[in-house]
Amino acid sequence: MQPITIIGAGLAGWTTVREFRKLDTTTPVVVITTDNGDFYAKPSLSNAFAQKRTPEQLVSTPAAKMVETLGVTLLAHTQVTQIDTAAKTVQVLTNGVASTVPYSQLVLATGAQPIRAPVQGNATDRIKVVNSLADFAAFYKALGVGAIANTGAGDAPSSATGNGVDKGAAKTVVLVGAGLIGCEFANDLLQAGHQVHIVDPSPRPLAALLPESAGVALQHALQALGAHWHLSRTVQAVDSAAGTALAVTLSDGSQVQADAVLSAIGLRADTALAAAAGLACERGIVVDAHLQTSAQQVYALGDCAQYAVAGQRTLPYVMPIMNAARSLAAGLAGQPTDLAFPLMPVTIKTPALPIVVAAPHPATIGNWVADGEAQGAGVWRFIDAQGVQRGFVLTGTQTARRVELGKSTVL
Ligand code: FAD
Repeated sequence: MQPITIIGAGLAGWTTVREFRKLDTTTPVVVITTDNGDFYAKPSLSNAFAQKRTPEQLVSTPAAKMVETLGVTLLAHTQVTQIDTAAKTVQVLTNGVASTVPYSQLVLATGAQPIRAPVQGNATDRIKVVNSLADFAAFYKALGVGAIANTGAGDAPSSATGNGVDKGAAKTVVLVGAGLIGCEFANDLLQAGHQVHIVDPSPRPLAALLPESAGVALQHALQALGAHWHLSRTVQAVDSAAGTALAVTLSDGSQVQADAVLSAIGLRADTALAAAAGLACERGIVVDAHLQTSAQQVYALGDCAQYAVAGQRTLPYVMPIMNAARSLAAGLAGQPTDLAFPLMPVTIKTPALPIVVAAPHPATIGNWVADGEAQGAGVWRFIDAQGVQRGFVLTGTQTARRVELGKSTVL
């Protein structure tokens, strides 16, 4: 019997296996991944510094345990280089050695790649991105936070900040991008006692996601924690500077001296393999209600997928993956199940101002309307041209009302 072959050991790949094994314990499953296959919760990467968690502590289940529990063959540190949908095989490369893996059904869970902005300078190779545990480990190392991670509040020296962080170990980080991941890292690094500069071409954070007043409220909340905002600006150059680690030149000519630069300007679905195999790809790998791509027996989910049932959107969040994995696993086990996404509000991990967003489809025409003070500040509803509520944003204590607001939102 040819195996079900899954490319990717992120949340999408592993959750699909977990769901599949609830329905079928015998069909062979092969998981192929360029990383080491350890299971970790990617959202924890953007709140680990404040919790003083090391990269090693973020692994929730080591790869060997996943293999044992789920009964799969794991090809770690292995890159799929080609898919042959006619032969029903994938070509792989492990330590430079090529081989062929067959499949009965193939799942693409290849995730997304960080977008990189064109930046000048002689130190652009030191601009970090964080979209995997390995990326996080590299950023963690670049920041040299061992001293902070090991400095508990109990043994904090007199120079410690309110967070129990030794000021001597505090670093200056330039964050490129004030989107969801940029703001989460800003909050986390500030809470851990670091200096943070945030650069974004928009006039306020999360400009694409939040109504203006909610974005401004987040800006003020992070500023109160110590964030230095450089809005309506871009990073032009990153150079290594004598005496300091890096000199970051902004579009207004100003310069920030920093120990590290973290770029968080967005992700793009990883469609390279799928496109090369002739599968239909747009913003992501196009999948139907059964998660099937344009090729028979080839499926996709997670950050790499573009869902027809979500109005041809990519949905790079945890909840869509959990829903898609359940539906796909049923199909792989011979019980085809239509995927239907419920309303899936996203929690933005900015404790300075907690935020919950249920974004409307980008093509929906309408306006954000703030509830008046009488109903309580911190509530915005997206009302379409027909007067129907299509989304909402809650901040602060209002985030407790996510279920209530969800009930009045029409998908
Ligand atoms: P990935 O985790 O990227 O996995 C892709 C896998 O494919 C990897 O194992 C990779 O090695 C493998 N792969 C790729 N190409 C190949 C190849 N050619 N050959 C072999 N293997 C290959 N979402 C939320 O809902 N809430 C949050 O709070 C939240 N916080 C986040 C914080 C951060 C810092 C980030 C980066 C994302 C966050 N997200 C959050 C988004 C969420 O984590 C992602 O949507 C999800 O983890 C994506 O999982 P995935 O399996 O699709 O992709």
